[in-house]
Amino acid sequence: MRHFPIFLDLRGRRVVLAGGGEAALAKLRLILKSEARVTVFATDPAPEIVAWDAERRLRLVKRTFGPGDALCASLAYAASEDEAEDARVATLARADGALINIVDNLEGSAFITPAIVDRDPVTIAIGTEGAAPVLARRIKADLEAQLPASLGLLARIGQGFRTAANALPMGRKRRDFWSDFYFKKGPEALAKEGKQGVELALGDLLIDHLHCEETPGRVDLVGAGPGDPDLLTLKARKLLDQADVVIYDRLVSPEILELARREATMVNVGKKGFGPSTKQDDIAAAMIAHASQGAHVVRLKSGDPGVYGRLDEEIDALDAAGIDWSIVPGITAANAASAQIGQSLTKRGRNGAMRFLTGHDVKGFAEQDWRSLAKPGQVAAIYMGAKGARFLQGRLMMHGIAPDTPVTAVENASRTDARIIASTIATLPMDLDDAAPDGPVILMLGLAPRAAAGVDLRRAVAGQVPTLQEEFA
Ligand code: SAH
Repeated sequence: MRHFPIFLDLRGRRVVLAGGGEAALAKLRLILKSEARVTVFATDPAPEIVAWDAERRLRLVKRTFGPGDALCASLAYAASEDEAEDARVATLARADGALINIVDNLEGSAFITPAIVDRDPVTIAIGTEGAAPVLARRIKADLEAQLPASLGLLARIGQGFRTAANALPMGRKRRDFWSDFYFKKGPEALAKEGKQGVELALGDLLIDHLHCEETPGRVDLVGAGPGDPDLLTLKARKLLDQADVVIYDRLVSPEILELARREATMVNVGKKGFGPSTKQDDIAAAMIAHASQGAHVVRLKSGDPGVYGRLDEEIDALDAAGIDWSIVPGITAANAASAQIGQSLTKRGRNGAMRFLTGHDVKGFAEQDWRSLAKPGQVAAIYMGAKGARFLQGRLMMHGIAPDTPVTAVENASRTDARIIASTIATLPMDLDDAAPDGPVILMLGLAPRAAAGVDLRRAVAGQVPTLQEEFA
């Protein structure tokens, strides 16, 4: 982030602008939303600027910008649409100590003006470091459509009520009150009885919240999916937005953690395959400690919480402590991997059943029903199996599996750095050694990547994708 967004207090501060054409008008429309004292220098100002001068919304000086014109100014805009003139203004303004913005000149500017969604006092600034103005405009349009015009009014009324609301203890109680106001009671009262109705509703709501019982803490065991934040369920997103505490695993992607409420306490209990981990008992203890104090805890697990997530142990611990819980399912890695390689998990005439396997359990490499897995047409998603590829190969070969049975390893399924490693039982350990994956890997036994549009085989490891991939039949 080269440009750091801040909100600058311009009340009573001086802002100068050189220019009188279209570029100047566009900037002035934004600056005039602030409470700055604006001076415009222009020899040939547009009629709007003349009118704003007459209305005393700004001061117009009908000459070119000169030395000392930006003295005591917080901001200066060079908006003459003439490169040489803008550069001259910028040099003078800089010498006067003002922060300078040259319209359409990122390199010459000390600051840039974002696209703004204005629901004063709620202001949203959108910036792309000058990289994608079209994107900024699109985001602005989406937000404009999403945010009701009344939002600003509700926020202003709320602002006047902040001191009264301090009667509620800080933290969750106060937050619940405000969220009840902004998202429920406020809009309802505004629609029914207008501004006065909102003020009355606010008083009633405060009394209700002052007298309501403390809600007990709880734990939601939430699936975070395979990593792509767009694959989170709406319910998971909502809970992340409300959580007081988020207890998360190593495989939960940073993009998803970004979605947690900013004030939430984030607890990392990450564990890596064979490496150090937070003990299950400590995880349970952390959930119970927070929930017992009334916190809303989101226990965020990668994929689906019920697939190799030690979910039952956590539920048993919560039950023993008498803490209320719920499960929010997520998209498991097998789903993401099959989508990534363009294959279905079950297929008429090929496999009417599929298996979830773990390559690693409490005792080390997991034993399975190898005999039935070695039969033709089997499909299995093998979690935590990459390190045990040689063991897996040995067991399956011992039970007579066809050596050319496809196995596709998918690393970082659904993420932008996803990688497909197409292989067969005969070559799996070697191919994995060559690819040396660093992220989480799932092995899809019995499935080869579909060589068709939509499957990004460019990311497949070179030389390991057969030219004509056939589904295993
Ligand atoms: N509950 C998770 C699985 C946890 S076990 C789920 O439903 O997906 C951890 C294993 O899941 C990893 O070792 C890896 O085998 C697999 N895994 C999780 N996320 C993955 C991803 N994005 N890509 C590939 N494999 C993944």
